Amino acid sequence: MICTACSCLCDDVFIEDGKVLNACKRGFEHISKFKENRAIPRVRGGTVDVDKAIDEALELLKSSKKPAIYGLDTSTVEAQRLAIKIARKLGCFIDDNSSFCLGDFVEMILRKEVPTTTLDDVRDYAYVIIYWGANVYQSLPRHMSKYTYYPRGAKRNRGYDEDRYLVVVDVRKSDIAKLAKKNAKFIKVERDLELVESFIMAAEGKAPKHIEVVEILREMKKSELNVLFGGLGLKYGLGDTKILAEMINKVNSYAPLAFLPAGFHSNMRGFNETLFEDVGFVNKFSFAENRSDQRFAFTELLKEEAIDCAVIVGTDPVASLPFDISRKLAKIKTIVIDPKDTVTAKLADVVIPSAYSGIESGGTMVRSDGVRVKLEPLEKAEIDDVYILKRILEGL
Ligand code: SF4
Repeated sequence: MICTACSCLCDDVFIEDGKVLNACKRGFEHISKFKENRAIPRVRGGTVDVDKAIDEALELLKSSKKPAIYGLDTSTVEAQRLAIKIARKLGCFIDDNSSFCLGDFVEMILRKEVPTTTLDDVRDYAYVIIYWGANVYQSLPRHMSKYTYYPRGAKRNRGYDEDRYLVVVDVRKSDIAKLAKKNAKFIKVERDLELVESFIMAAEGKAPKHIEVVEILREMKKSELNVLFGGLGLKYGLGDTKILAEMINKVNSYAPLAFLPAGFHSNMRGFNETLFEDVGFVNKFSFAENRSDQRFAFTELLKEEAIDCAVIVGTDPVASLPFDISRKLAKIKTIVIDPKDTVTAKLADVVIPSAYSGIESGGTMVRSDGVRVKLEPLEKAEIDDVYILKRILEGL
């Protein structure tokens, strides 16, 4: 089966004699504990049946003046398409976690502003591997063992022993910097911009402030594929992606360097791609104004009290957003569609229990490198995101 606990979407996980094999600890917990803490259909705290919960959700949406749809990063592409259709029909806002995660990096790739690659090609061909502001040991546990530093690939058959050159850039010595010692280099950055400028200067043949980038560029010259994985640390360190795109393109005038985002929910890229195909933007979109804007990010909508109702799918904003933002959810009507009885579900006006994508429900997801995978569920639940969202779309 395919593990859907993170955007690695590992395809070699299987179950034998009731045991989950090949998964990391996170994947193991995701798969082996999926029956625990399940949501039950509720309306204003009282238990109802699923039909009643869907009817009530429809009533709330019909009476809402400014609704928003939020989440969907663990839903399938098929469910995401339906949610976008609902947003279009309602003329409302739609957003996912990527507006404060790595949506900007995905957008940069979808707009073809930087060269990119696949994780399979990284495993087979990449020599210099840079993790910048991405502690994948925590966020994508098998990233290094399955795709980057450790595995032996078609043209990298000596793996990290001789065929990889790892660079970890972070504000502190992260787990991966501590773990990877062989053919690995750690660069501590106070200001990411200084290192970005150093890469640009070195590629132009000028003396950079961070002198170590000269050696990294020299190593890159030895390979037809090198890759930079950008994480949240890089995004927040830079703020703007323009200078990053300039750096990657400048480096490419000297040696090949592809870019990939690292570290997010299982199908965040699926949401970005699905919305991009439809409206040309990856997140924080208003169908009323037909454009994307920072003001339409779900966190901003809550902060500014710009919505009166939210459909929250497969995410737990009460647990994950800062309290001064998430407490605003108490002022609006909330409809939660989720397999789990999350903190947000416990406080919601309507709860519609759904299936776990990949475990109880099939469909398509998009890996962090844009490769589409078909899920192979262990069992098939009757009520999943697609069923619920289709009912809502038809009922509006
Ligand atoms: S790395 Fe991610 S997808 Fe792979 S087994 Fe672990 S949690 Fe699942």
